[in-house]
Amino acid sequence: MADAKTLEEPALRGALNRTPPPSTVPVWDPWKEEAPHERTHRVKVDPKREPPITGAIPKELPATRFVTWDPWSHGLPNGVTPPEGYRGASHSSHDAASFVPPASGRQDSGRRDAGDTITLPLIKVGENVPPLARRMSRLGTETAFDVLARVKKLQAEGKSVLSFALGEPDFDTPTHVRESAKKALDEGQTHYGPSAGLDPLRKSIAKYISRSRKISVDFDQVVVGPGAKPVLFDAMMALVDEGDEVIYPNPGYPIYESVADFLGAKSVPLPLTEAKQFRFDLNDLAKVISPKTKLLVVNTPANPTGGVLTKEDLAGVAELARKHNFWIIADEIYSEILYIPEYASILQHAGMAERTVLIDGFSKTFAMTGWRLGYGVMPKALVPHVARIETNVNSCTCTFAQLAAIDALDGPWTEAHRFRDEFEKRRDLIVAGLNAIKGVSCLKPDGAFYVFPNVTQACKNLGLKDSREFQDKALSDAGVAVLARTCFGRKNPGEEQEYIRLSYATSQENIREGLKRLKAFCEK
Ligand code: PMP
Repeated sequence: MADAKTLEEPALRGALNRTPPPSTVPVWDPWKEEAPHERTHRVKVDPKREPPITGAIPKELPATRFVTWDPWSHGLPNGVTPPEGYRGASHSSHDAASFVPPASGRQDSGRRDAGDTITLPLIKVGENVPPLARRMSRLGTETAFDVLARVKKLQAEGKSVLSFALGEPDFDTPTHVRESAKKALDEGQTHYGPSAGLDPLRKSIAKYISRSRKISVDFDQVVVGPGAKPVLFDAMMALVDEGDEVIYPNPGYPIYESVADFLGAKSVPLPLTEAKQFRFDLNDLAKVISPKTKLLVVNTPANPTGGVLTKEDLAGVAELARKHNFWIIADEIYSEILYIPEYASILQHAGMAERTVLIDGFSKTFAMTGWRLGYGVMPKALVPHVARIETNVNSCTCTFAQLAAIDALDGPWTEAHRFRDEFEKRRDLIVAGLNAIKGVSCLKPDGAFYVFPNVTQACKNLGLKDSREFQDKALSDAGVAVLARTCFGRKNPGEEQEYIRLSYATSQENIREGLKRLKAFCEK
């Protein structure tokens, strides 16, 4: 039987309220480590009565399609025949068997390749259960959280696991920012605020962006949101139509592709390559632009590679954006975690202020991930639209957190600079250590707190098929949590190398120990 906690999942609560006895409707919670088929077993599906079936995803299944568990609305993939006595649920018939996607899907955003072999255990769903929205089958996820859940589980079992999986500073938020929030609370700053954000914070943001990017920004170009992620989502909601094309960096932060797909757009990957220090080739960009291109996402410094775009790269992007008339989302959340003197922003180029939404926030710079504070800087005309989405979704961002954020931006910046300096030391340590491991080679990134080593040779030495197997083995055998390349998008055509991401937002002591374990693992 599905446990009560699972059934409380907010995203599904509405649907569940209308369902018959929940015992027959297991809910997969992608934030937990269990794969759907494991959950099926947890809900005690009788394997004799409801046997798992195995089938190959037929070639005609579009390679880009998400196979996401959707017990209410989706039938079996074409070509997969259910065992006798069962049939796949269709959109109009929910009284029969439905399917669950593969266990392995959970670690790579749920995407399957045509021709992959998957196991589809059947589940009986309740009668008269209304379907979920079809768009849910297009929504991906951020799989770092899955690995984190596995780490937590192993740790709870008493295993020693060092995690390099999550992109979250391990520092405390600077004291003066915490004090400022406490003061705001004590002063009763606990009410709703304007959807676009409190004006004093919008002014501080405009001043900070003007100063750091060396451009001129007004406060009424700013929308504050509960994290950079929601503002990114809002901006894409406001700009992207069904059928539009959205170009996103690959490997890249998985949310860009997921949201583009969710909105019914076509997500178009732009390869980032090791040969270009994980920047993209402008010719490759020019090649993927089409009359349908509505939006390009640039992320510098980048997650997961730490790659930083140059002024020249961005000048090239600006020229293409002007020529082909598309929007740009510039995700600059790591701009303060930079190990070179000058930060280059797309907004420094002519004509870009009219067509760019700059995304930034407090999570990384000030170690404020749990505060949920981010913002977008955009053309004034776009502000009311993005703010209207905020009104519909969040009403506003937490007001006392916004007041503390003013003190973060207005300074002192001593702690933020200390974080950056410490990240640089850790980068040097981890890059040197990784390069000393047989079969591993690692570029020295200029920004963010990630390294993206090439583990092709290590995989070969260890007899591992790919970075996913490396990720699984490193966790189970060496107690080191890393993320496979495929957590950041599907491989680009012709991409043969294997990579993993390590976040070095953890202590030097953990980094030393993790490197020791990885070395022993790779050289055994
Ligand atoms: N963009 C990128 C590239 C990120 O890596 C992250 C956090 N992992 C975000 C946006 C979201 O940040 P926030 O916590 O402000 O929502």
